[in-house]
Amino acid sequence: LTYRVTASYIDLGAGEGVLVSFEDTTHVEQAGQIRRDFVANVSHELRTPLTALLGFIETLRGPAKNDPQAQERFLTIMDREAHRMERLVRDLLSLSRVESEERVRPTTRVDVASVVGSVARTLAPLAEEAGVQIDPTGETEGVLIPGDEDQLRQVFTNLIENGVKYGGSGGRVQVDVTVSDNVPSLRGAGVTITVRDSGPGIAEQHIPRLTERFYRVDSHRSREMGGTGLGLAIVKHIITRHRGRMRIESRLGEGTAFIVILPLGQ
Ligand code: ADP
Repeated sequence: LTYRVTASYIDLGAGEGVLVSFEDTTHVEQAGQIRRDFVANVSHELRTPLTALLGFIETLRGPAKNDPQAQERFLTIMDREAHRMERLVRDLLSLSRVESEERVRPTTRVDVASVVGSVARTLAPLAEEAGVQIDPTGETEGVLIPGDEDQLRQVFTNLIENGVKYGGSGGRVQVDVTVSDNVPSLRGAGVTITVRDSGPGIAEQHIPRLTERFYRVDSHRSREMGGTGLGLAIVKHIITRHRGRMRIESRLGEGTAFIVILPLGQ
């Protein structure tokens, strides 16, 4: 806790008094700390690939100048590092956009079931390459909600992609869309989209922190998989803008389910 304490003399009529005030500034301090941590994280995440790129440029100009095989190998690594930076900048821009915008205009209606189906089809080749099967179930179209189509597409892309990435070969990602007349947490009608994988699962202590920016359970594995650590933070913000909720259920060795509930609106 932090407090700002100020004291001043005041005239009480029958002599002078001292007025002491205590202002709770904990939230201001915390916001400042979060901002400083974020800038430090971004700098670190950008500096790592940048240092690699600069190092390889030096090597290509010097020791590897006349070695085509080494050049090819280094260019492959440089390409990967440059793409890592590109993904990071792309996710930072998405995050800043969804953080700064107001709630979605309720006039635009999106067919959320068909968005989910289309994302599943788009990711099918990637899943196949990883040896993972995507199974869509439930409603396939005609579930209209007030929302932003591009952003909802991003939510389900991030969730299904994570299921594929962390699920591992031979795994499955089940995507289910169900409409309910009465969702207690929304106090009204809603659509529940569940993305369930058969991957390694996530230990309980990590679950509340997964949607923090740059929080990763296993940094090495996330980077190997091309992750930026921002995917779930973006997902959380978009769902909040849609007045929705997200719950994460996971058990080690049994897989993980991301359960998104969005209001159907009027
Ligand atoms: P990343 O870009 O690292 O995937 P995310 O924000 O999408 O970042 O996810 C944060 C972390 O949560 C990941 O690094 C990973 O450790 C964990 N995670 C996310 N989805 C899953 C999943 N389906 N199964 C296991 N772990 C997951």
